[in-house]
Amino acid sequence: MSIAAGFVGLGAMGQGMARQLHGAGLLRGVWNRTGDRARSLANELQIDAAPDPAALAAICDMIVVCVSADDDVLEVVEALRPGLRPGSVVIDCSTVSAQTARTAAGMLEDVEVDFLDAPVSGGVEGAANGTLAIMVGGSEEAFEKAQPVLQAMGRAVAYFGPSGSGQAAKATNQIMCAGIIQAIAEAMAFAKAEGLPLDRLIDTLGQGAGSSWYFVHRAPNILKGEYPAGFKVRLHEKDLKICSDMAARLGVRLPVVESTRPLYQQLIEAGHGDEDISTLFRLKDALFSEAVARGKGSSQR
Ligand code: NAP
Repeated sequence: MSIAAGFVGLGAMGQGMARQLHGAGLLRGVWNRTGDRARSLANELQIDAAPDPAALAAICDMIVVCVSADDDVLEVVEALRPGLRPGSVVIDCSTVSAQTARTAAGMLEDVEVDFLDAPVSGGVEGAANGTLAIMVGGSEEAFEKAQPVLQAMGRAVAYFGPSGSGQAAKATNQIMCAGIIQAIAEAMAFAKAEGLPLDRLIDTLGQGAGSSWYFVHRAPNILKGEYPAGFKVRLHEKDLKICSDMAARLGVRLPVVESTRPLYQQLIEAGHGDEDISTLFRLKDALFSEAVARGKGSSQR
């Protein structure tokens, strides 16, 4: 059975993901809040630019959504609702809370439409190359039905359980990223203060037990003093708020997350919110510069 897929949210991620669906012969049409973006992609790919989400829903059996935050997802689901046909599937690839995923799924129950929470990891490069990791929650039957769409956008596609489970898996990933980037930034600032050759350090430690994808791929930003996105501070801060709120529902504060968020706030206020999260090095490096300025640090820097 051939699938007619629609795409809502042609931002940095959505552009690449929609193109992958087109490449797989699945993309029937698109809708974007800023209409020009949808019209220009539709012209290029020779597909429909729907006038509104309901009109897109009416010509598709699977709709992929990739918008910014919780309220945006609920707004889009509400707008899709009048056009959705029974048996259709809405696949939300935005990063939002597990609770929002469950609310969205509930909004579609009476129209007999399945909602899959399917947040992604792998950045803009992964979206453009169809190599995203996709973490899915919702009904297992809908997950099976959506396989061609999910496989067109991702390389590692995994089912985690009922609605909200995909978002919980993504939140787990975001907590790990917070700890890893804090450790890398702090360690590199320390190494710099010790006067170590940082390029050699990255090559050597990149093969050691403390290495990670982030260390190998983003520590070189520190050498250049340039932090192109990447994974924007602003987006990770949004995701860490989701992690905080989800943990708060379990009565727990997450120390790694709670120590990272104020640092991100500081970076955003200083105008670094659109840089890659490795820009956290700026703050860790400043700890050592301040110590030197107070006359407490060594002068080797
Ligand atoms: P983006 O470039 O800012 O694009 C956001 C898209 O959502 C735009 O198309 C925007 O429309 C649309 N949108 C926002 N609010 C909307 C609303 N209320 N109604 C309708 N459309 C709305 O963001 P992105 O980087 O593509 O990220 C999208 C999602 O993927 C986020 O949840 C993000 O956390 C997640 N994600 C991002 C990355 C990454 O590296 N960028 C990685 C993994 C996951 P307009 O064109 O009108 O503004």
